Amino acid sequence: MTYHPGMISLIVPAFNEEENLPVLVHRLMAVMEPYDSYEILIIDDGSSDQTRYVLRQLSKAYPVVRFLSFSRNFGHQMALRAGYDNARGEAVICLDADLQHPPELIPALIDKWRQGYEVVYTVRQTDPKLSWFKRTTSKHFYRLLRTVSNLDIEDGAADFRLLDRKVVNTIKQFKENDLFLRGAISWVGFRQCRIIYEPAARYAGRSKYSFRKMLKLAAMGITSFSTRPLYLSVLLGFIMFLFASLFGAEALYEHYFTNATVSGWTTLVLLSVLIGGVQFIMIGIIGVYLGKTFVEVKGRPAYIIGDTSEIEESVAPWQSSTEENDDVFYLPSR
Ligand code: UDP
Ligand code: MG
Repeated sequence: MTYHPGMISLIVPAFNEEENLPVLVHRLMAVMEPYDSYEILIIDDGSSDQTRYVLRQLSKAYPVVRFLSFSRNFGHQMALRAGYDNARGEAVICLDADLQHPPELIPALIDKWRQGYEVVYTVRQTDPKLSWFKRTTSKHFYRLLRTVSNLDIEDGAADFRLLDRKVVNTIKQFKENDLFLRGAISWVGFRQCRIIYEPAARYAGRSKYSFRKMLKLAAMGITSFSTRPLYLSVLLGFIMFLFASLFGAEALYEHYFTNATVSGWTTLVLLSVLIGGVQFIMIGIIGVYLGKTFVEVKGRPAYIIGDTSEIEESVAPWQSSTEENDDVFYLPSR
């Protein structure tokens, strides 16, 4: 994908958002007026309503609007990735199609970027309009995620953020299919800064994030950034082993010093606690190796360079494309 210096890309995943898109595009165009160069790239995530038709009309009417249409519903995270893969800007901002992420906040994100921040992420203020259910599940999800992974993601971190070209190119290096973007962006580092905002109400339609999709996202977030659940059985094994030893000692004591045991009981107890503990530990050891394989298979960069004196500004790797099919845009031709 050719990279356009100075351009700002707005990427918008949309799943059945026919009513929202025209309003969104107009609001975005109003906000982006003062900027010289920008594009609005909308990713239609396999919508079954008129979204695709609406997008074709919008892109015909306004040259700044581009769109990609998935062949089926691949999910919000995949739509965002397609956006990052195809964005041409030097800064890439993603936001939801339902106007919950206020377009009027975009200049603030861009200002922060111009001050030198490479990741400008947003955190939604606790919003009384949000259902109790969504608020609590989201809070507990982030808490769990922080506990099991080494990520430092705040409550209410949304997929409304600006990434510098360097960061986008780093994210593009992640080849794993199951990528939890919020985690990946927190993981890559760079100069990050936060903006707190108040989400608006959904403009039209209903939430496209069903409970099933939320659960899937949560499971993906945890399993793609943590191998800790795999190590759980080592811990369990050791705890069982400890109890086995105590219990075994007690069984031996009863066998030798009291008359309370039935013949054969001691052996049975000792064997079962011992074998149980050993089994858990062995499963845990397999888990540890599996975890290591899992990390290796993903082939993530071991480290990421944020800046260096070695590269001239004009030929920095994030500015020269490494992709073979330069200039090719994966869009159906108009
Ligand atoms: N979305 C998507 N694919 C999906 C579900 C949602 O591209 O499978 C988009 C949706 O069109 C919207 C954004 O992701 O632009 C956030 O979804 P939604 O507003 O429904 O989620 P909520 O705000 O209720 O969490
Ligand atoms: Mg929404």
